[in-house]
Parts: sequence; C-alpha cells; structure tokens
Amino acid sequence: MGNTEEKKSVNFIESIIEQDIENNKNGGRVHTRFPPEPNGYLHIGHAKSICLNFGLAEQYNGLCNLRFDDTNPEKENDEYVNSIKKDVAWLGFSWEDREYFASDYFDQLYKYAIALIKKGKAYVDDSTPEEINRMRGTTTQPGEESPYRNRSVEENLDLFQKMKEGVFEEGSKILRAKIDMSSPNIHLRDPALYRIKHANHHRTGDEWHIYPMYDWAHGLSDSIEGVTHSICTLEFEVHRPLYDWLLDQLEVFHPQQIEFARLNLSYTVLSKRKLLQLVEEKYVEGWDDPRIPTISGLRRRGYTPAAIKNFAQKIGVAKRDGVVDVALLEFSVREDLNKTANRVMGVLDPLKITLINYPEDKTEMLTAVNNPEDPEAGSREIPFGSEIYIERDDFMEDPPRKFFRLSPGKEVRLKYAYIIKCEEVVKDEAGEVVELKCTYDPETRSGSDTSGKKVKGTLHWAPVKEALKAEVRLYDRLFTVENPSADKEKDFKEFINPDSLVVLPEALLEPSAKNIAVGDRVQFERKGYFCVDRDSSNEKLVFNRTVTLRDTWAKMSKKK
Ligand code: ATP
Ligand code: MG
Repeated sequence: MGNTEEKKSVNFIESIIEQDIENNKNGGRVHTRFPPEPNGYLHIGHAKSICLNFGLAEQYNGLCNLRFDDTNPEKENDEYVNSIKKDVAWLGFSWEDREYFASDYFDQLYKYAIALIKKGKAYVDDSTPEEINRMRGTTTQPGEESPYRNRSVEENLDLFQKMKEGVFEEGSKILRAKIDMSSPNIHLRDPALYRIKHANHHRTGDEWHIYPMYDWAHGLSDSIEGVTHSICTLEFEVHRPLYDWLLDQLEVFHPQQIEFARLNLSYTVLSKRKLLQLVEEKYVEGWDDPRIPTISGLRRRGYTPAAIKNFAQKIGVAKRDGVVDVALLEFSVREDLNKTANRVMGVLDPLKITLINYPEDKTEMLTAVNNPEDPEAGSREIPFGSEIYIERDDFMEDPPRKFFRLSPGKEVRLKYAYIIKCEEVVKDEAGEVVELKCTYDPETRSGSDTSGKKVKGTLHWAPVKEALKAEVRLYDRLFTVENPSADKEKDFKEFINPDSLVVLPEALLEPSAKNIAVGDRVQFERKGYFCVDRDSSNEKLVFNRTVTLRDTWAKMSKKK
C-alpha cells in the first residue's frame, strides 16, 4: 500500500489468516481462543499456545477468548481454573470480559444434540463400552454397525431425554453421531457425543447426568463464540473431518480448525497427566515446584514473562512434531535477565580470608556497578574490611597449570576491591582448609589502581562482618535423559535426576541484598541468576537458582 517496506516473513498460520482477511472471510474478523481443560496447571507447552492465540489476536486487531473446556467433571476444579487465569494474566495477556466455560453452553449443546437426532444423524446406543470398542474396527478393518443404529427418531429423543434426567446407569448408553462405520477415518465411525456421568461438576453441580464429549463440545463452543480460527495441536488433525461434519450438519457458524505441532522439550515432561503424577506422588513439592515446566514453576524459578514470550517467538510454529532443546528456554531467560537483573556478590560455599596487613578495625566502602548492561541501574556501596569470604572452589592448594584463581603465593583481584596474595593456608585437624591468610596491595584499589599489576583472576567475595546469610537452592534439570518418556517399557520417573535440588544452607551475601523482595531476580556474580523464593522470611532469605550463567549441560553431552 504505497510503502516499499519489505514484507516480513509470516508463518503458515499467519499466511492463512492474512489470506482470509484479504478475502474478507468472516468480514475480515480474527477471533481466536485459548481453551484449557481445568484439570491441572498450565505448562510451557500451553504458554506456546497462549502466546500464539493471544499474539495473533493482537497482531491482526482481533480478539482472543479464554475458554475453559470443562466437560470432565471428575478431573476438574476451581483451583485449576484460578491458576490458569493467574498464569495467562502473568504472561501479560488479557481476555477482557471474554471468560467462557464450555459448561455455560450445556443447554445449548443439548439443544443441538436434539436437532441432530431429529435429522436422523445421531442415535442412542445401548452397547457396552467393550462392544463399542470391538465394533469400531481398526485402521485396516472397517467397523460394524451397532444393532441400535436404526432406532427411530422418537425413541432416540425419548432415551436421550431420560439419559439427561439420570434414569440410566453410567456406561449403559451413549449418544453417537450417525456417520459411517466403514470410514477410513476412525473418528468418523459413529463417534460418541454424550456419555452418562452422575458426577458433581465444579460449576453446574448435580444438574447434569450427561456430559458432552470433546469433539462435540469443542467445535460447537468455537461456533457459539464466533471464533474464526480454531488453532489446536497436530493430534487433532484427524478430528478435523468430524469437527467440520458436525458444524455442517447443524448449519451453524463454521470456524476453521488449524493445527500446529505441539511443543516438546528435552529433559522434561509436558503432559498434565505426568505432571500430576509427579505432584501427587510427591516427587516434587507441588505444582509450582521450580523443577517442573509448569508456568507457576517457571515463575517461582525466576523466569520472566518476557523470557517465555521470546522463547515462544524463537521456536515459532511448525506442521511437524519435534523436540526443542531445553537449553533454548534457558538461553531465553539468561538473555532477558542479563539485561534486567542487578548484580550482587554472593558466596555460596564460603571460605574465610583474613587480610593480615589490613587494619583490623577499618571498614571502607567500595563502589559496585549494579548492572553493566543497564546504565540506568546505578551503583551501590559494599563494605570492605580485614575479613572476607570467597568461594571455596576459587582456592586450590595444589592447582593445575591453568588455574587462575587463588593458590599459595599467587595473586588475584577481589572484584571492586584490591589485588590480594595468598600467604598462608590454615587447616583444621582433619586437614581441611578453614582459612587463608592473605595480604592486600593498597596500590591496587579498583578505579584508582596505580600499581600497573596485571592478574588473570577476579573473584567475587562478601565481607564477613556485614554478610547476610541466605539459603540457596540450586535447581537442575529434573530428568537425566533427553526424553524420559521414550522407553515405553519404563516408567518416566525412573529417570529423575537425584541431584535436581541441592540446598546450600549458609550462603553469604553482600549486605545490599537485604533490600531484595520475594520474586526479585538478581545475578550472583559468576554464579548464575537467582530469584527470591516465597519461603523467605525476615530471618532468612531463600534464593532459587533460575539458571547458571552458561550452559553446563552442553559441554557434558558433547563429551559423550
Ligand atoms: P496435556 O497433553 O499436557 O494434558 P492438553 O492438550 O490436554 O495438555 P488442554 O488444557 O486441553 O491440555 O490444552 C489447552 C490448549 O493448549 C490446547 O489448545 C492445546 O492444544 C494446547 N497445548 C497443550 N499442550 C501443548 C503443547 N505441548 N504445545 C503447544 N500447545 C499445547
Ligand atoms: Mg486436552
């Protein structure tokens, strides 16, 4: 339209939508929905779907509904509904007033079923579930018609009404669509539309004794809401003919179903059923355990909405299933936190140093940069005195040649402070190093170094007197193998990483850390990104490690 700007590349869903807009299909309207079943907490796979559906609506000036697909009363509840709303909002998307429930449509869906029966396109089947299963046939063999298939419309209407009123036992009857038992597509072999359940529903209580099946409820809910593009994952591709058939039979508004490949991630599981097992069988602490890929777990772990959205953007949408390396997710959060997280010095496994030539009662304040990536972030002061802590593994008594950290007789720089030299190693009776005696060089103060000295190592540290104690939880991948579900003979839980959580009870931090609040994220210099956990109290700060500074697993798998 008169501008010469290069057209950005679009993915296959965008190209369908753009064509529809061009053809003025649905009056050029774009309306999507995110349709979770409230039977568990959302995971990163759902985040992909959320970013896609809400993202497309934003991009094309459309709308996106939040719809709870609540048709399985035994598995669903309000806790899940609330967690889902919290997670979608946290990601930064708004469904405004369009919060819907499939259960809101139960009356309408029932009326549609009656219309279908009246058309002679649905019937009540008394066959047992086993018989129905057997008569369905296989992928290579056609199915058989049920002996109840040719019931009269009147009889079907009567039986269906009685099903609704709770006259029959669970499993004794179902309502089926009358399509084609010899169709090569099994989903078209007279699929079930309604089953009997005398269950209490989290919203409709005991009102209903029949509940709609997914295929029935889903397409019609899309239609009722005026959804234009019903985007779902690839396994529903084979359901699409049924989706279309039902809407065509009822002659109602007909959304277009579009399928994309679901997200699979290495070193974890993305299935609500498996996540539920991990939670219920207490392999993890709960739905927000920072080791599982639920959105609430990622949030508690320290992930940001921006990191998750960037990740979704990077992986894009495809038509073929694949596995995304979890390292890409970790990269996304590193990339975001590098720009936004303030730096703090925290010693996770402390070793004490006494500077023997520094005045014992003197404290000086040193200036530290809060975030070298963000000039706006300013600076802070850190007290420095004659006693400090460094990381235990930054010292080696008998180091290999390329060890540039501290060892006897060698010099290193303490970040924002001075160059020090290790003069003496103090050990306890067991021979363990308990303290180092060092000298500092007063000429080498950072920012006003006049010594001309060059050292290769710079260490983080914390002052002994003012140090703040904290518990630090080091989280790692929950599974030791890339695909814990690959071996069908084995339970995926056999591959749980026994070291997925290491707790360091007494890390020591620079005192400025006391101003950090629950949910805040910081970089512990040289150690990784950390987030203040909700278990923190006035007495004790608790940090979760979000991610290490570098991908430590990449090196390990290259060695294989
Ligand atoms: P699970 O397989 O984990 O039990 P689900 O598909 O049963 O998930 P729903 O609550 O039905 O969970 O999913 C809501 C929406 O999220 C659906 O549109 C579904 O296609 C999408 N979704 C679920 N898992 C993924 C995934 N791994 N990648 C992308 N989208 C997903
Ligand atoms: Mg589902």
